[in-house]
Amino acid sequence: RAKHEGKSTYHFFEPALDEEARQRRQMEIDLRAAVKEGGFELNFQPLYSLAQKRLTGFEALIRWNHPTRGRVNPVEFIALAEETGLIIPIGEWVLREACHQASTWPDDVSVAVNVSPKQFAANGITGTVLSALSASGLAPDRLELEITESIFISDVDKTLATLHSLRNLGVRIALDDFGTGYSSLSYLRSFPFDKVKIDKSFVEDLGTTSNGHAVIRAITTLAAALGMETLAEGVEDVAQFEVLEREGCENIQGYLFSRPVAADAVAELLRDGAGYQRQLCA
Ligand code: C2E
Ligand code: MG
Ligand code: MG
Ligand code: MG
Repeated sequence: RAKHEGKSTYHFFEPALDEEARQRRQMEIDLRAAVKEGGFELNFQPLYSLAQKRLTGFEALIRWNHPTRGRVNPVEFIALAEETGLIIPIGEWVLREACHQASTWPDDVSVAVNVSPKQFAANGITGTVLSALSASGLAPDRLELEITESIFISDVDKTLATLHSLRNLGVRIALDDFGTGYSSLSYLRSFPFDKVKIDKSFVEDLGTTSNGHAVIRAITTLAAALGMETLAEGVEDVAQFEVLEREGCENIQGYLFSRPVAADAVAELLRDGAGYQRQLCA
């Protein structure tokens, strides 16, 4: 009977839902413990300027060293951190640690830090950035904040006010994952970003479609007209690199040059700079 079937269907799914909820609760408990006990680490991936033919900075990328699961990548916990509000203390730690590390690098090397939408929208983000800068002594123009188009989904006026107050600190603002959002072009018009990071899905397209070139050209042309720099992320092979160079993309990031590395391997990459310069000039 239908009634009976409905009921048994319900019972059939319930344990699976319970299991999912249980795992999520456990993950939240573990995440809380990691915040308290310092279970995170930053990796750093080099950013290269084609115009300057040198390594100009690193993007800080968080890793979670889970006691039993080992290293957990951000795609697996940033969403949960956002939902639970834990992104606020995590994001504070990232800013402090990234600024501290960068303060040990040469003056012409900067650090880029991802700021998630909830962290951006929280009252106090400007204060958090300011205190990370003063605690580390890092010059504000050596810090670049990476935000995504999704910060515009809620209260646009408040978003713009926050962007301007951050900019007034002297930090740089980059628009990350450009092109993946709902209405990318209108956001570009609304704030003078320092840099536009072309999403890696567009770089991937370069190998497979000829339209890919046209999209890159459109973005670099538009960014140039608006006085913004471009950076292509996810550059994995020489063919992609050559198209990006030809289409006037100014900065690149990707496995072709380096994967993200631990903080103590940064010095080595900086010493090795000449090797990358040769590769860029070749
Ligand atoms: P994102 O900001 O767009 O960072 C770039 C991602 O692309 C990184 O993944 C990086 O390791 C990866 N990547 C770099 N080069 C290549 C390449 O050549 N090929 C491929 N396939 N991938 C490449 P990761 O470290 O797993 O981070 C994923 C996302 O998690 C980031 O995307 C960012 O949105 C978020 N995230 C990372 N660290 C933080 C953080 O400290 N705070 C916040 N709020 N979000 C973070
Ligand atoms: Mg980023
Ligand atoms: Mg990105
Ligand atoms: Mg991305």
